Amino acid sequence: MEHRRGATVVTGRRQAALAEASDPGPEAGVAQVLRVVRRLEGAACAGCGLPLCGHDAVVSLVLGLEQAPRCTRCVAGTLDQTPELLRGDLLRRIAGRKCHGAAWDWAQGRAPRGGEARCACGAIPGAGARD
Ligand SMILES: [Zn+2]
Ligand SMILES: [Zn+2]
Repeated sequence: MEHRRGATVVTGRRQAALAEASDPGPEAGVAQVLRVVRRLEGAACAGCGLPLCGHDAVVSLVLGLEQAPRCTRCVAGTLDQTPELLRGDLLRRIAGRKCHGAAWDWAQGRAPRGGEARCACGAIPGAGARD
């Protein structure tokens, strides 16, 4: 009997740990992510000093550069990639993640629209995270 009770306790603890580790909920996750990218947008790039656009903010967030955010060009440069390659890779990464996908959609909504217009970072507004 002691054995069985012990197992139950362990299972209970494990479930508690899992609940703690997971997001407080998709909506809360989205709100938190949007709060971060709103804060990062307009901040000076740690590399070139230019103000970050919404896409740059999402790039910095996804790559964990919140403390020293960088624009897409500077991040790509440090990774020895082109901004296009980096953006494509990033979009594949965030496509399955609701909060990061929502952040990209938010950035797309901030970008200039119409015709062949591109954002300052080179992203093409309208190219979604979930295509
Ligand atoms: Zn930069
Ligand atoms: Zn941009």
